[in-house]
Amino acid sequence: MTTQETIELFDKYVIANYGRLPRVITKGEGCYLYDADGNKILDMFPGWAVSGLGHCHPKVVEALRKQAGELLHIDNTFYSEPQGVLAKLLSERAFGGKCFFCNSGAEANEAALKLARLHTAQEKYKFITAEGSFHGRTFATVTATAQPKYHEGFLPLLPGFIYVPFNDIAALESAFSDEVAAVMVEPIQGEGGINVASSEYLQAIRRLCDENGAIMILDEVQTGIGRTGKWFAYQHFDVEPDIITMAKALGGGVAIGAMMAKAEIAASLVPGKHASTFGGNCLACAAGVAVIEAIEEDNLLENASEMGRYAKEKLEQSKQKHHIIDNVRGIGLMIGVQLTSPGKDIVDKCLENGLRINCTSGTVLRFMPAMVATKAQIDQAVEILDAVLSASA
Ligand SMILES: *Cc1c(COP(=O)(O)O)cnc(C)c1O
Repeated sequence: MTTQETIELFDKYVIANYGRLPRVITKGEGCYLYDADGNKILDMFPGWAVSGLGHCHPKVVEALRKQAGELLHIDNTFYSEPQGVLAKLLSERAFGGKCFFCNSGAEANEAALKLARLHTAQEKYKFITAEGSFHGRTFATVTATAQPKYHEGFLPLLPGFIYVPFNDIAALESAFSDEVAAVMVEPIQGEGGINVASSEYLQAIRRLCDENGAIMILDEVQTGIGRTGKWFAYQHFDVEPDIITMAKALGGGVAIGAMMAKAEIAASLVPGKHASTFGGNCLACAAGVAVIEAIEEDNLLENASEMGRYAKEKLEQSKQKHHIIDNVRGIGLMIGVQLTSPGKDIVDKCLENGLRINCTSGTVLRFMPAMVATKAQIDQAVEILDAVLSASA
């Protein structure tokens, strides 16, 4: 099919709830995408952070082929090996908790919120979340998402959510009460513009949760599975949450989400309280296992740290050349370039020149290369961005 033919199918048959670029992507390999018109694109935002190992990582593809030949799906009436193995691998790389599997980030957060309610006393029904957060699009998670633009058209939202400014300990303290069931924040806000939590902030959440019998939930849907150079971003901050949620990169491109909770809290999720038909299916879990093994076998945590440092250094050099860049921030391969004016045109021009990046929160360019990225690819990306910035200055 031509690009035009595919777009016509969408116009007729697919709900137009996304602002799509007029390109049809037909193939992905590592850090590159190919479109139906024969263009090759350097992808520095692969799959909106889903393709953390790059597109179609051979070890993930192989694991999927193998699993597909054995069993695609078995419902949670039974036990299945991939789900158990993935839970063990995740538990050992975090704080030793137990896992519930689902299919997306929003579902993982939804499970975390429900578990927090179940595990705490009945009068505790409030949740504290941070301004600029993004937690998903289901009713509970969009309510947790403390950005008015995502709420428009959906009022009234779920009751009980309290929004506080991010990284503001005093605001957190005054929002707390013994009615709070949980605090949920991202250790680095992704959609909110790559805003990194301070250690003091996360530690204050820990302390206030402990003092008030509340649960500390970290949304690691975007930050988790190695992107920051550690398995989970919280591991940079000398703090241990009660629950983490993950999704995006966990399946290397296959839909999967997970919530991990400390065993004592997880015990409250008894049969009948929560479930997911597809959650923990063999195919998705086999992909998750392959992702974790590939990260270890290929030393990709180290590569993420090293390439993250390198990319930040290169972008800092760009900042010297372009006044539109205000600052560069982030950890590992989760990098934001704060501009002094809107970034959408820049992102569009980069794509015309063969580079995919993203713009979030209006003025923040998001670089989230795959963990397999090389220096040469980062050089190429920064060169294209430099050229675009020079041309539009
Ligand atoms: C993407 C994202 C979500 C939502 O994940 P979905 O899979 O789209 O439901 C939740 N939290 C964070 C931090 C995210 O980046």
